[in-house]
Amino acid sequence: MQIAIIGSGISGLSFYLWLHRLNLTTTHSVKIYEARPTTTTSSPTKLTDLQTSNASLIGGALGFSPVGLRVLRRLDPELEEEVLKTGHWMGRWRMSNARGWVLDAKSQLWQRHRDWKNNTVRRIMEDVEIDNVYPTFTTPDLPTWERGGCVLVGDAAHALQPSSGQGASMALEDCEILAMLLAEYQAQGRDGWQTATKLYSDMRIPRLRWIRKEAQKRGAMKHDMGVVQEMVMYFFIWISVKIGLFTKYDRELSEYDVPNEARKAVARHSRGVTSTKR
Ligand SMILES: Cc1cc2nc3c(=O)[nH]c(=O)nc-3n(C[C@H](O)[C@H](O)[C@H](O)COP(=O)(O)OP(=O)(O)OC[C@H]3O[C@@H](n4cnc5c(N)ncnc54)[C@H](O)[C@@H]3O)c2cc1C
Repeated sequence: MQIAIIGSGISGLSFYLWLHRLNLTTTHSVKIYEARPTTTTSSPTKLTDLQTSNASLIGGALGFSPVGLRVLRRLDPELEEEVLKTGHWMGRWRMSNARGWVLDAKSQLWQRHRDWKNNTVRRIMEDVEIDNVYPTFTTPDLPTWERGGCVLVGDAAHALQPSSGQGASMALEDCEILAMLLAEYQAQGRDGWQTATKLYSDMRIPRLRWIRKEAQKRGAMKHDMGVVQEMVMYFFIWISVKIGLFTKYDRELSEYDVPNEARKAVARHSRGVTSTKR
């Protein structure tokens, strides 16, 4: 079987690593196609270099939630260690309101990056004004994520609102589940691959629709709040984190056990039960 991975974002690369981990790269040919140039220059000298290496130079502001980090650990503990080593641990987070008021963002920026000696980076930090939040877009509900051997994962299937903080973690979940199912059914040839991709789509669509709806509700709630209401909300978030009080959303999000859910889907399929309802 030939597997073409389109895009080398978190989804494309982690899916490749999962295929490798589950020994599917020894029996199948896998190729990654990326539209953007993929140089690995770490000290860019030309503007064109910056188009691909600026994220590694400055650092991508991506927050992994616990569920995503657990996928990384299962995939490769060294990879997880690298991510944690170069990143910042966030026991709590700061948010912006509908008026663009970002709590303390500038001082956090200084705290994290004060050791930079590079003049350009220092100028950016000195001059930056945070007074707006740009519009964001999400993917509409798609009727299916698979057809005729083509499967959507990550943002291609379900771009969430960035404020949900779950896009990368959900992409990682997708890739682990899809790779596990492909490994499970690969011996059955083409039919097996179809079963795997159908099961993947049936499992993931309800979870992602629910997460998107919940994230939208939370985002919309913030937009209509006055300052006092907002402070009360932050207080409750703070106290919930302090005393370990989690909402149903938090629990379902973080307690989702990817390998176990994949095994349950396989068991359901062998019993002839096809759909997974929330
Ligand atoms: C402002 C912002 C903040 C965010 N913050 C967070 C956060 O804190 N936590 C979190 O979990 N998520 C966050 N996200 C979401 C997260 O970045 C995405 O969910 C995640 O990066 C999706 O990865 P992906 O690999 O699916 O897609 P992408 O990263 O979009 O990768 C797709 C790749 O495919 C390539 N490509 C596209 N078309 C083609 C083609 N035709 N042929 C070949 N290659 C192609 C693209 O060049 C790209 O490299 C944020 C997103 C935004 C915009």
